[in-house]
Amino acid sequence: MIINVLSGKGGTGKTTVSTSLAYVLREKGLKVQLLDADVEEPNDHIFFDIEFHRERSVDILLPVVDKEKCTLCGECGKVCQFGAIVVFPTTVMVFDYLCHGCGACTMVCPEKAISEKPKSIGKISYGVTKEGILFGMGLLNIGEPSGVKIIRELKKEMEKDFDVTIIDSPPGTSCPVVESLRKSDFAVLVTESTPFGLHDLRMALRVVDEMGIKRGVVINRYDPNFKDLDEFLEKEEIPVLMRIPFDRRIAHHYSRGELFVKHLDDWKKAFIELYEKIKGMVA
Ligand code: SF4
Ligand code: SF4
Repeated sequence: MIINVLSGKGGTGKTTVSTSLAYVLREKGLKVQLLDADVEEPNDHIFFDIEFHRERSVDILLPVVDKEKCTLCGECGKVCQFGAIVVFPTTVMVFDYLCHGCGACTMVCPEKAISEKPKSIGKISYGVTKEGILFGMGLLNIGEPSGVKIIRELKKEMEKDFDVTIIDSPPGTSCPVVESLRKSDFAVLVTESTPFGLHDLRMALRVVDEMGIKRGVVINRYDPNFKDLDEFLEKEEIPVLMRIPFDRRIAHHYSRGELFVKHLDDWKKAFIELYEKIKGMVA
């Protein structure tokens, strides 16, 4: 089963949910794989002792224009969705930092004037935690426009023979999130009891529903006084899988880079129940 943990915005507690779930399920004896696909700021590794054994660069192909062959016809500039190749009256320029490496310009060039050269945009690493969780992580280089390829490569290398794979998605609702959600069996949407949390949850729900993925919500830093969120979820009949209230014990462990489920039995039990609920909904 592939469980995707996502949220409409950063800082809602995605990491807490992904890492805690991975830990309790491993302790329960399941074969667990955790992929940190939050490639702009991966931080699941902070909570584990990991021995990394594999690392490789992820490259995209940048266009290189042969000025001898180029007739300045303008086709490459027209097809580029990102403004990364621009045809001027006397030359063609490629802006590397905008290029997504999609290859469209190379394909449309009628003069075969474009070749391609590889450029590293980041890396993926694989290892195993002390507990025996298979751990994968993607890291996008600073300044690169898109982490989609890194997420795709990270998922391509994931092992198939596992009881549970947990993917910690990037925040937001753009292309990297869609890439990370592909082929997931279930989406856990993490939100918080604030107007911003509710706003971003609505957007994330739209993406998940359009992709036809079963889903449920975890409310982190739950505040019963903020009624709008509960009312929305009830009206839309969206299942609430777990409510995590403000708890000084959780904050204490989090601030020390520790998994609170390791130390708090009541929460260990709650995360196992969360998994059982998901399993029931996926079946
Ligand atoms: S499509 Fe090819 S020939 Fe036309 S402007 Fe671009 S590089 Fe030059
Ligand atoms: S490879 Fe794609 S993104 Fe890069 S310049 Fe060509 S069309 Fe634009």
